[in-house]
Amino acid sequence: MATKRDYYEILEITREATSEQIKEAYKKLARKYHPDMNTEKDKKTAEEKFKEVSEAYEVLIDPNKRQMYDMRGHEGVDSQFGPGGFTWDNFTHQEDLNDIVGNLFKGFFGGGFETNTGGEDIFGRRMGRGRGGVRGQDVQLRVTLTLQEIYKGVTKEIRIRRYEACPVCKGFGGTGDRICNTCKGTGQIRRTVSSIFGQMVNITTCNACRGRGKTVEKICAECKGKGKTEKVSNVSVKIPAGVKEGNYIVLKGQGNAGSDGGPAGDLIVVIEETEDPVLKRDNNNLIIRVPISFPVATLGGSIEVPIIDGKVLLTIPKGTPTGKVFRLHGKGMPVLNGYGRGDELVEVYIDTPKNLSREAEQKIKELGTLI
Ligand SMILES: [Zn+2]
Ligand SMILES: [Zn+2]
Repeated sequence: MATKRDYYEILEITREATSEQIKEAYKKLARKYHPDMNTEKDKKTAEEKFKEVSEAYEVLIDPNKRQMYDMRGHEGVDSQFGPGGFTWDNFTHQEDLNDIVGNLFKGFFGGGFETNTGGEDIFGRRMGRGRGGVRGQDVQLRVTLTLQEIYKGVTKEIRIRRYEACPVCKGFGGTGDRICNTCKGTGQIRRTVSSIFGQMVNITTCNACRGRGKTVEKICAECKGKGKTEKVSNVSVKIPAGVKEGNYIVLKGQGNAGSDGGPAGDLIVVIEETEDPVLKRDNNNLIIRVPISFPVATLGGSIEVPIIDGKVLLTIPKGTPTGKVFRLHGKGMPVLNGYGRGDELVEVYIDTPKNLSREAEQKIKELGTLI
């Protein structure tokens, strides 16, 4: 058996290399030797090199294996692999590799591999489409509430238009599996392209099967194979007391149906608040301006003040000036998801009388000489 090369030498690093440096070195070499990054002629050698650096990485990135290797060399770690030595089955850092090569391709092809499924990689592994399908889109809508509704909390019935999974085919567009003709079941279309880096293989998701690698045997008659149908539905949304303009409520899975058995999107209900004709809201407080007569301001008295759920009597002390603010503790809006309520702030102003009778005018003149 040929002598195996030293792992540190393979990764072109020193024996003191940190795990970051090991990762960095592997990233660099994986790029260099990845079979998809090499021309047909060099493919074979590149593939061997790629495997060799991956084996070195497998050992050195794992602190235990690295320690054994440092102590006893290849003998210390060979037992980790099968009798024939390292194979791809022994490689446990697929995620790192996906990351490395995935990003590499993204960089070269301008993000062409990014899809709305998120976790898709160029190898078609971990593909949301293949196993879990594509998640449906979120549906967003606004709901307008009065201050009274916000004060009490309310359950609203809202009508929404959304895609719902076809009840007949359960969203799969049909029944039975048939290997996709376009991609021969791989879910991907490979295209060799030339670039400044040499010949490379550009891999895109197969449009015909949307990456599943298979199509249905019998197209669903109900949805014509789309897997979903547009429907108008009533959804009941429970809105807690104390919400504010711009707050939103997320109803998980109540948005548009997914594709190929993927989960539905969410329904996002955004709160809009209509202005109240009487009470102004300032966070959890309510503000109101109330007129008082000149006699009440001067001599004191009590006035009726509207609050969110009725009226209260407010005592006006003797000699109250215009613009004075009274605080009604706990008469404001409820605190969202909390206890207690804000306050109501009552600003009084003196209501100067107009259009007086001749008699009233005379009395005020007399009064004027007295005060
Ligand atoms: Zn259907
Ligand atoms: Zn296909």
